[in-house]
Amino acid sequence: MSSIRLGSCLCGAVKFEVRGKMRSVVNCHCSLCRRWHGHFGAYTGALLENFTLLEQRGLRWYAVPSGKAERGFCGECGSSLFFRKKEEGTDAIGICAGTLDKPTGLTTKRHEFVADMGDYYELDDALEKWPRGVRVTEV
Ligand SMILES: [Zn+2]
Ligand SMILES: [Zn+2]
Repeated sequence: MSSIRLGSCLCGAVKFEVRGKMRSVVNCHCSLCRRWHGHFGAYTGALLENFTLLEQRGLRWYAVPSGKAERGFCGECGSSLFFRKKEEGTDAIGICAGTLDKPTGLTTKRHEFVADMGDYYELDDALEKWPRGVRVTEV
């Protein structure tokens, strides 16, 4: 497994690479993620020092209503891409797992915010189910 992973939006107006370790995938079921993705969101994450944008002409940021975080997306094709906290000293970025090229070498470890999940689906897998959230770099 190469330690460099590549990712992109649907149209290629945003491309990025991540060197080294990435967090295991966490599925977030909060109402904000469900609206943003059209269903729950699958995220990995990386330290910002290991994250490089290779193409960013399409990249836009949407500040969530609380003002505490931003969601990155492609303004040309609409792909959901990134999540970052706006607090001082943020050193990590959440990355939508589906944007990475295969093989990712990653596995899905847990569901989070299941207390807020939609009422139209079931979680019948054996993954851990957390009522709230986890940090971007926490496994
Ligand atoms: Zn795009
Ligand atoms: Zn969420």
